[in-house]
Amino acid sequence: MPKAFITGITGQDGQHLAEFLHSKGYQVFGMLKGQNNPRAIQFRDEFPYVELVPGDLADLPSLVSALDQVQPDEVYNLGAISFVAISFNQAELTSNITGLGVLRMLEAVRMVGGTQNNPIRFYQASSSEMFGQVREIPQNELTPFHPRSPYGCAKVFGHNITVNYRESYGIYACSGILFNHEGPRRGLEFVTRKITNTAARIKLGIDKELVMGNLDAKRDWGYAGDYVRAMWLMLQQDQPDDYVVATGETHSIEEFLTLAFEEAGLGDWRNFVRQDPKFFRPAEVDLLIGDPTKAQKKLGWTREVDFAGLVKMMVRHDLESEASRAKR
Ligand code: GDP
Repeated sequence: MPKAFITGITGQDGQHLAEFLHSKGYQVFGMLKGQNNPRAIQFRDEFPYVELVPGDLADLPSLVSALDQVQPDEVYNLGAISFVAISFNQAELTSNITGLGVLRMLEAVRMVGGTQNNPIRFYQASSSEMFGQVREIPQNELTPFHPRSPYGCAKVFGHNITVNYRESYGIYACSGILFNHEGPRRGLEFVTRKITNTAARIKLGIDKELVMGNLDAKRDWGYAGDYVRAMWLMLQQDQPDDYVVATGETHSIEEFLTLAFEEAGLGDWRNFVRQDPKFFRPAEVDLLIGDPTKAQKKLGWTREVDFAGLVKMMVRHDLESEASRAKR
């Protein structure tokens, strides 16, 4: 039975990946930080087959001892301070966890796996936020980076150090440059889930309005369930490499609002949305659109859920879960 070790196990992608690897017959281990992590109880109920191992991306010895204990075949580094808006306020913490955390993880892989014929395969969760103020449209694996937030800067470091460890020590390390990927498990702080959840709450009479920031931003939004498949595919190739994973389409926040409010049966979103400068960011990434050609050709990866399908899935999920929460 192959063994996979996942950091960021309680996050959106960690959950999808755990489910996917379990269905493929893996023994799944997840790293959990903190003495009394509030997410642990619910996570254990939902994912009884995942073995939780203590560890923290800020603490190298804990990573070494976790890998030493598990002896994994594959390591997926999904753990990060992942919210761009927060990274402006907590730039040092973001750099430490999202950036230096990757170095620590790679060092642990090097120490536990050995440098020669290292059996551990490593996946780094890189991000389209590295492209930031984009140099070309669409963005591919060779597009230069110009991050626009402390989060983006930390992800650039994580990406570069992954490539460096591959080139310097021959570690089988891949970097997946994933564009935004969403779904019913997305945190409520991200714009897609904030919209679908609030639309559901307005429909059910729990909330009255949706307060938003910049509505001009555009993103290449895919479904997280499709994207974790690409992570796994990357680690099954003969040679490690870097891949952009995206839909190749970009949509505005306004388009997302239109589909979500229609799906919730609320009609025109303009009747419910107010803008507040507190949700604006010091710098923005305005137009992200990825070119997934390499992943499609080399990995045989394709997405199964399109933009409209994604919005529908999220709104339906939130209508159901908010309705059952209201009954309790
Ligand atoms: P990101 O691409 O990782 O930053 O994902 P987010 O979902 O947090 O933000 C996507 C875009 O939506 C950004 O350009 C935000 O400025 C914009 N946006 C507009 N209003 C909001 C809001 O109320 N919350 C969030 N999170 N983003 C918003």
